[in-house]
Amino acid sequence: MNEHLDVVIVGAGLSGIGAAHHLQSAFPDRAYLVLEARESIGGTWDLFRYPGVRSDSDMHTLGYRFRPWTDAKAIADGPAILDYVRATAADAGIDRRIRFGHKVVDAAWDSGAACWTLTVEHDGTTVTMTCSYLYVCGGYYRYDSGYTPEFAGIEDFRGRVVHPQHWPDDLDHAGSRVVVIGSGATAVTLVPALAQTAAHVTMLQRSPTYILSVPTVDVVATRLRELLGSRRAYAVTRWKNVLISTLIYQLSQRRPAMMRKFIREQTIKQLPEGYEVDVHFNPAYGPWDQRLCLVPDGDLFRAIGDGNAAIVTDRIERFTERGLLLASGAEVAADIVVTATGLQLHALGGIRLTVDGREVPLPQTMTYKGMMLGGVPNFAFTIGYTNASWTLKADLVAEYVCRLLRHMDAHGYDRCVPVPDPAIGTRPLLDFQAGYVLRSLDRFPKAGSRAPWRLGMNYAQDVLTLRHGRIEDGTLRFARATPRRAASEVMARPTGH
Ligand SMILES: Cc1cc2nc3c(=O)[nH]c(=O)nc-3n(C[C@H](O)[C@H](O)[C@H](O)COP(=O)(O)OP(=O)(O)OC[C@H]3O[C@@H](n4cnc5c(N)ncnc54)[C@H](O)[C@@H]3O)c2cc1C
Repeated sequence: MNEHLDVVIVGAGLSGIGAAHHLQSAFPDRAYLVLEARESIGGTWDLFRYPGVRSDSDMHTLGYRFRPWTDAKAIADGPAILDYVRATAADAGIDRRIRFGHKVVDAAWDSGAACWTLTVEHDGTTVTMTCSYLYVCGGYYRYDSGYTPEFAGIEDFRGRVVHPQHWPDDLDHAGSRVVVIGSGATAVTLVPALAQTAAHVTMLQRSPTYILSVPTVDVVATRLRELLGSRRAYAVTRWKNVLISTLIYQLSQRRPAMMRKFIREQTIKQLPEGYEVDVHFNPAYGPWDQRLCLVPDGDLFRAIGDGNAAIVTDRIERFTERGLLLASGAEVAADIVVTATGLQLHALGGIRLTVDGREVPLPQTMTYKGMMLGGVPNFAFTIGYTNASWTLKADLVAEYVCRLLRHMDAHGYDRCVPVPDPAIGTRPLLDFQAGYVLRSLDRFPKAGSRAPWRLGMNYAQDVLTLRHGRIEDGTLRFARATPRRAASEVMARPTGH
């Protein structure tokens, strides 16, 4: 017998668990399921197991709005974040609504029936189910493999090569010479963590990244907790951190020279005298044109100062038997090489979407408010901010979906679709210059050049539009059940609201 749900959430990571929490708090009686391809909760925070794995944004904004982060550490370790997500699911009984080992591969919308038919891979077979609303929280990258560029001579190397996305349980790096290729958040996390027991760690980067030290423990948050209690202190700290990160982002965009100077001065302060800051910490791009890396209590700078780690800025010519030969002619010896070279991005959990038999061509599809797709009914997805914590956006999307469902209930609508205006220009969905983003952008949907199609990258503004803005804005079209007429016909016409 076909199983029908009111809502299906795809993914049991930070976003999917948050979405389920919002949904069941708003609609305790609504039939929903979370379909999760893996066998566990947590997504990113369960998958990544490399030494030192941690957040690089503060947990007061990476945490859910509805569940205060009470740990003293504001920059948290991966296992603590995983516990937080799992506890959120367990406390609200969401874990009982998750079907593990269920990978959604295809979602087909039928306007006549006003529902989605999902094709789901499970245990070597294919199952189908239907739902009225599909909410994809599948993250933004592939789980099966990370990104590794082609390196000449890699087969000659006698040591071990590992990718942080697939960290082997049996890898013992103590006493080894480790080279970490990369300069992003993962590399700067790995280097000080590995340096604790490795003989030496080299961070080998093609080009530098902006790196800023932040305190692991937020003393203001701790004091506020004592004064206001955890719930109120959390709300205040969350806004404090939103304002600080918005200020840093805005200054970076408007006054790049000033921010560059500020970051350079902070970096110099933390490194040994005479260190080549302008070689290893002087990116070619402006601050926040790519993600700014945060390091807790300057751990990376300390590892360099202690002589346990070093940065080499050069190009890799090829792997050799003993390590890596660089363009400058230098050779870096290694027992272990870690390719912290990034993720392979993909959109919407890799699900193939069709609407009334026609495949949705993602690269030609425009996103509405950065959370729905033009022409795709009863559908939402979560992609977090690139310039602030992911969960800030994830929470707002979930709140909006609940408002939308309530609005549909109140008016007896069973379909809702954003209808794009062909006159609106397009923008990249992830407006970010990092290599791993640029490599994959052509497979992602687009954002529009103006509201409501433009991608909001400002939390305060999104609070106004997603939490408080009008649902009926003339762009979202609604329809009631009309059994005798094709639903697509109904939805193509403005409703007059
Ligand atoms: C190492 C690392 C560190 C990060 N640190 C930060 C940080 O400090 N701050 C920040 O804001 N962001 C950070 N991010 C971004 C991070 O991914 C988000 O913060 C957040 O964890 C994303 O949650 P999510 O639930 O949306 O996606 P994910 O964590 O990717 O979870 C998606 C889930 O959906 C499942 N899924 C996907 N497709 C399907 C399908 N078709 N069918 C069924 N299930 C499916 C996956 O198996 C997974 O469990 C980091 C990312 C990485 C890789």
